[in-house]
Amino acid sequence: MATFVELSTKAKMPIVGLGTWKVTVFSSAFPSPLGKVKEAVKAAIDAGYRHIDCAYAYQNENEVGEAIQEKIKEKAVKREDLFIVSKLWPTFFEKSLVKKCFQKTLTDLKLDYLDLYLVHWPQGFQAGNEIFPTDKNGKLLMSKSTFLDAWEAMEELVDQGLVKALGVSNFNHLQIERLLNKPGLKHKPVTNQIECHPYLTQEKLIQYCHSKGIGITAYSPLGSPDRPQYFPRHKEKHINGNVLDNPSGFTRCQADDPVVLEIPKIKEIAAKHKKTAAQILIRFHIQRNVVVIPKSVTPSRIRENFEVFDFQLSDEEMATILSFNRNWRACGMFAAINEEDYPFHEEY
Ligand code: NDP
Repeated sequence: MATFVELSTKAKMPIVGLGTWKVTVFSSAFPSPLGKVKEAVKAAIDAGYRHIDCAYAYQNENEVGEAIQEKIKEKAVKREDLFIVSKLWPTFFEKSLVKKCFQKTLTDLKLDYLDLYLVHWPQGFQAGNEIFPTDKNGKLLMSKSTFLDAWEAMEELVDQGLVKALGVSNFNHLQIERLLNKPGLKHKPVTNQIECHPYLTQEKLIQYCHSKGIGITAYSPLGSPDRPQYFPRHKEKHINGNVLDNPSGFTRCQADDPVVLEIPKIKEIAAKHKKTAAQILIRFHIQRNVVVIPKSVTPSRIRENFEVFDFQLSDEEMATILSFNRNWRACGMFAAINEEDYPFHEEY
């Protein structure tokens, strides 16, 4: 059975969860594979997962909610045994808009509370119906509202019993510091959800967060290899030397992107433990007391990614995996790289 990480609220967060991004896509140019995420969530619950990572921006929470309801109805799981996470999108940072985004999530998920609600990204975007609001030249439109404005409204959700705990995602340590120092802060963030895998090991940020009692969730733990399928290469634009090659700029897909699942040494470690490379990549986080949320819509992989509690990586193997760090990111909101508060200019 899964193990847990204890949050500062004393809640137990299952250390392995199911990721649900890229199962329905942002742009109407790409057909959405309806039904895939629903079946994935059902397969995950059957395999023993109790933690599902969702977001307003993934535009598939309705399907996730259907799967959860079906599993509760057939008594495969109880609501109180699930740990459901969702995220506030930065077009809803104005205090008066937070509840709108949250309510859409809660209604779609068909739940009456969330276990954890995160600020998805630290920079505010212009309010409106678009996930990525842009001007006629395709430039991302920002907002003056900040995550600090949003946080106050998120705290009200906790006070109203609609959310058990709050957290952040993609924040650097200075942004966390700013939040922790916010005058009148009522509810501290319990977690920071960040990209993490052998090519982005995040040692300093993890150490900083843990020292403040803030847990870490590792996203894109397998290096997000399906990005090119959903974000095919578009006309390239160079922004500060970074290639923006999809409409959102959230992720990038370059021909020479490293493939985390193919690192020969990881495969070697996997063979030694009679495990797969994916299982090694997942186990790596567990042994750092980091929550990990691999995404799959393939039932056999969903099961495989959960079979990570019956072996142990040695200290030497952990050190080897850490040595692969090269600060490479799959997800960087590259469209916002020149805007105020871009999180990844800081070292950590
Ligand atoms: P992952 O690193 O989890 O990789 C997913 C890809 O790996 C899919 O192509 C999947 O294929 C494949 N895969 C899954 N399991 C295996 C396996 N055992 N063997 C081989 N291939 C496998 O990518 P994500 O970027 O999706 O990250 C995970 C989750 O993290 C997201 O889904 C989302 O919930 C969250 N996230 C959060 C972000 C944030 O800003 N807060 C940003 C990015 C992600 P298939 O599905 O076809 O089986």
